[in-house]
Amino acid sequence: MQVKLHPRFDEHKIAKEAADLLQSCVHCGFCNATCPTYQDMFDERDGPRGRIYLIKHMLESGEAGDATRTHLDRCLTCRACETTCPSGVQYGRLADAGRELMETVSGRSIGDRFLRRMIRLIFPYSRRVGALLFLGRIVKPILPRALGRQIPAKQTIASSLSPSPSASRKMIVLGGCVQAAITPNTNEAARRVLGRCGIELVESRSAGCCGAVDYHLGAQNQGLDFARRNIDAWWPQIAAGTEAIVTTASGCGVMVKDYGVLLKDDDTYAARAARVSELAKDLSEVLEAEDLSVFRESTIRARTAVHCPCTLSHGQKLGASLERILKRVGIPLAETTEKHLCCGSAGTYSLLQADISQRLLTRKLAALSIDKPDQIVTANIGCQLHLGTGSDVPVMHWIELLDN
Ligand code: SF4
Ligand code: SF4
Repeated sequence: MQVKLHPRFDEHKIAKEAADLLQSCVHCGFCNATCPTYQDMFDERDGPRGRIYLIKHMLESGEAGDATRTHLDRCLTCRACETTCPSGVQYGRLADAGRELMETVSGRSIGDRFLRRMIRLIFPYSRRVGALLFLGRIVKPILPRALGRQIPAKQTIASSLSPSPSASRKMIVLGGCVQAAITPNTNEAARRVLGRCGIELVESRSAGCCGAVDYHLGAQNQGLDFARRNIDAWWPQIAAGTEAIVTTASGCGVMVKDYGVLLKDDDTYAARAARVSELAKDLSEVLEAEDLSVFRESTIRARTAVHCPCTLSHGQKLGASLERILKRVGIPLAETTEKHLCCGSAGTYSLLQADISQRLLTRKLAALSIDKPDQIVTANIGCQLHLGTGSDVPVMHWIELLDN
């Protein structure tokens, strides 16, 4: 697909990148078959191919109307289309570039701008998320039931063990933002489980949000500032020879793995960002490489449905890793269908596109429940919370099953 850039984009780096990314699309439309929003609405403009045409039109006309904004905003950035595309179109990067351009050529309503600003002011900061939750739990009893279910219960942290005295290996763990405030037991469980494998997890206090919230809301520079802060925070441990940077939320993991590409033109950070991305590993990648015989005596008999987040399956290409680990430790798995479809959480999507998000949630829960599981596990805080708002069975991070 050839693009003739509008003169206003002549010197625009992101526009040029988008035009390059567009070139590999051959308009076949295979991607529509696995796109959750196309499958929900059956409107060409709500599928990847239609969105690619909308971005192309924006690049060539130098403007974007309400329709372009609506259909690009409805994209989950789940990247199921990337997995399906026979032509290797990097749709995730294209969607981010398209959103950034859209913010420069087209205005948003005051209400929309305010909501997005509030999300960016609160969610990347765990203390602010904690404060908001605190208030939410106070007013929860007087809220309508549907709204009250959106506020997660306080998580009890299982008693913390000091690192295994035999731990001879060290890895950095990303503390993150929302997960640190709402489900702190995930990283605690990871710490204990890896401790049994002889690995000590070390967290840097000055690291924080991976940057994905800002980056995917069309504020790329602010998102990259979070990335730079994390690189600075981790560098002393990396220089000292840390073995890996472990992420326990797959949405953060895919972002950290992209630091090298996203900062490739930053003279100060490019080399270090590339090294960080080389070291980044999802928790499941770390455990898959370990001898799990120490966990073989799992007493869990609850039948478990696995929801593999889009950021793990399509973003990190680790689709079946959770099932493989849980099978190895003897946890009985329940059958599920439509594994490729997003649950509708998609970062901040459930706040910005509530109706579509709820329809996708209903569809995903039905697909996860065909075999009547006793519990659901996943690998990303957003999916965990979103599924938890509608599920009749407990939803947890998969690492908690190994921590018993
Ligand atoms: S499957 Fe790939 S090449 Fe085909 S229309 Fe979709 S993005 Fe373009
Ligand atoms: S990223 Fe997901 S929602 Fe967006 S076009 Fe691709 S498949 Fe559809």
